[in-house]
Amino acid sequence: NTVPAEPTTPAAERTLVLVKPDGVRRGLSGEVLRRIEAKGYTLAAVELKSATPELLAEHYAEHAGKPFYGPLVEFMLSGPILAVVAEGQGVIAGFRSLAGATNPTEAAPGTIRGDLARDWGLKVQQNLVHGSDSVESAEREIALWFPHL
Ligand code: GDP
Ligand code: MG
Repeated sequence: NTVPAEPTTPAAERTLVLVKPDGVRRGLSGEVLRRIEAKGYTLAAVELKSATPELLAEHYAEHAGKPFYGPLVEFMLSGPILAVVAEGQGVIAGFRSLAGATNPTEAAPGTIRGDLARDWGLKVQQNLVHGSDSVESAEREIALWFPHL
């Protein structure tokens, strides 16, 4: 029996994380960064930003026309957002696991949304964080929020 050689380390993966306006407003930016770092991922960029309708139209292009799109954009314009690029192997799926299910009521305890978000009667838009869902989305979203990276 031969044990296969360890694969060579692939290039580090990056994802875009946003602490949404509810998270910044509630003082949970540090808690989100803490969980990312505690998991072992690296912070490659962190910047407090104000979104614009144009930026959000690109960021949420896949949701244009859905019933929640208008309220979602309005919410994302309601205050500052902490934009983060996190880095590490598997970080795209890994951060989605840390974040938990989109609906905070359904998100498992132990996750950011499960532990820290709830249903405030505003459907599921106020769920604290965004995380890219694929390599393509991550690269596209990082270019939108951090054009200089
Ligand atoms: P995510 O990838 O888990 O963030 O979820 P989606 O990409 O499906 O949706 C983007 C964001 O839109 C979510 O994080 C929520 O903030 C919001 N959202 C999704 N579905 C709904 C909905 O049914 N109602 C409302 N009000 N907001 C929603
Ligand atoms: Mg999504």
